[in-house]
Amino acid sequence: MRVVIVGGGPGGYEAALVAADLGAEVRIVNDEGLGGHCVLWDCVPSKTLLTSAQAFNTLETAPSLGVHFEGMPGQEVPRYEVDLPTIMRRVHNLALAQSEDITKRVLAAGVRVVVGRGRVVGPHTVEVQHTGDGGRPERLEGDAILLATGSDPRRMDTAPTDGEVILSSKDVYRLRKVPEHLVVVGAGATGAEYATAFLRFGAQVTFVVSRDRILPTQDEDAAMVIEEVFERRGLRTLKNARAAKVERVGDRGVVHLEDGRTVEGSHVLLTIGQVPQTTGLGLEEMGVRTNDHGAIIVDGVSRTSVPSIYAAGDVTSKLMLASVAAGQGRTAMWHLLGQAVAPLRWDAVSATIFTDPQIATVGLSEQRAAETGIEVEVDTLPLAGNARAKMSNRTDGFVKLLARPGSGTIAGGAVVASYASDLIAPISAACFNRLTASQLSQAFQIYPSFAGSIQECARRLAVRVQGSYRY
Ligand SMILES: Cc1cc2nc3c(=O)[nH]c(=O)nc-3n(C[C@H](O)[C@H](O)[C@H](O)COP(=O)(O)OP(=O)(O)OC[C@H]3O[C@@H](n4cnc5c(N)ncnc54)[C@H](O)[C@@H]3O)c2cc1C
Repeated sequence: MRVVIVGGGPGGYEAALVAADLGAEVRIVNDEGLGGHCVLWDCVPSKTLLTSAQAFNTLETAPSLGVHFEGMPGQEVPRYEVDLPTIMRRVHNLALAQSEDITKRVLAAGVRVVVGRGRVVGPHTVEVQHTGDGGRPERLEGDAILLATGSDPRRMDTAPTDGEVILSSKDVYRLRKVPEHLVVVGAGATGAEYATAFLRFGAQVTFVVSRDRILPTQDEDAAMVIEEVFERRGLRTLKNARAAKVERVGDRGVVHLEDGRTVEGSHVLLTIGQVPQTTGLGLEEMGVRTNDHGAIIVDGVSRTSVPSIYAAGDVTSKLMLASVAAGQGRTAMWHLLGQAVAPLRWDAVSATIFTDPQIATVGLSEQRAAETGIEVEVDTLPLAGNARAKMSNRTDGFVKLLARPGSGTIAGGAVVASYASDLIAPISAACFNRLTASQLSQAFQIYPSFAGSIQECARRLAVRVQGSYRY
């Protein structure tokens, strides 16, 4: 089997590794470093930036833990300096190093990496214009093609970015000074993460959100915790505020809201979503069906409307997450190469918003259950009673579990905590494997630990739903 993959993000490179492992001849076409937007612009850079912001957690809590920094005893947060050029250099170097590591793995697996832009010109043919080469395009033939071209930041005609004052998420990494006043437009995960980082770096931050709360698609209780923390740290949120136009006036950015109000800042960051990247791919000519938003339509095993063409990741707009992209890419290759394969488990996907504290969720949410009429029992345990959280002085947050009545099967969960992205793991495993609340509660957890709250919450839920946590 010969496979041609277009796009080198997690959807593409994870598929390449699986296909090569199963003995296929694999070519992967990508127009930038392997790892794609995920590694070079989105997940890895944003989380590296946020790691620098996390240094403030230590500074903030140290005095209350009895550790004072020389020359400034008793001060709540000691004097500090944010060296943004160093932070951005670290972000850049780490992303490149990660991309290089992925390239090494992919090459070691025997995959040919083709640097250029790919376009589908036949059900089995991809034409590649090599980067920096105006010469004749190369044609790559395959038994199957996988499209994993990702997504780009959504743009508004009335809000043109200039990379200096009016920024897209990709432009953030060009900043060399902490903005004096950053206006973040868009209430989703990306906006909340950048707001978290720049608030910590000392910027004044205003969040412009079109709904009546931030993170409108997230667990409501979780979003409330983040709103409270933001407020405590001085972030201003303008709710029910839909941006109509953004313009640069001199060296400042002005956001005009639909209701006539304006907000001005030294910088404006647009985080208004992502759009699938299908420009110039040749989909229409090939008969690859897309939806109204331009996303490629796929089935549970990543097949498109053309039998020899698969698609994975953000370009399918299913759930725009690196783990989902990778899962779709692997599933496509397992299906193509004759492995036993089940459709992706959309009911057990986990995700994290890397605010501070973080919000991690898996499976069914309380809101979704209510909207769809799925019956669930819910238990929520605040971290305020957790010994480890008290020791660390990090008590903002909670553990929430959802179980099906009768069986007690874990249907979903949410964790709001400093390292919720890691803490969600046992709930994710329980949800994926359809364990009961009682089974989850019986697995050993460390004492004292944040994970102890998961166990305790599961125990309470098991008693309520299953009558006991002993079976
Ligand atoms: C700011 C931000 C932070 C995020 N943080 C997280 C996070 O923490 N965790 C998480 O799970 N998700 C996160 N996401 C989402 C995540 O980045 C995406 O879901 C993920 O990158 C999707 O992977 P992909 O393989 O579909 O595409 P991508 O990673 O976008 O890779 C696609 C690649 O294909 C290339 N390409 C496009 N067209 C062509 C062509 N015609 N020929 C050749 N190459 C082409 C692109 O240049 C790109 O390199 C974040 C997104 C944003 C915007």
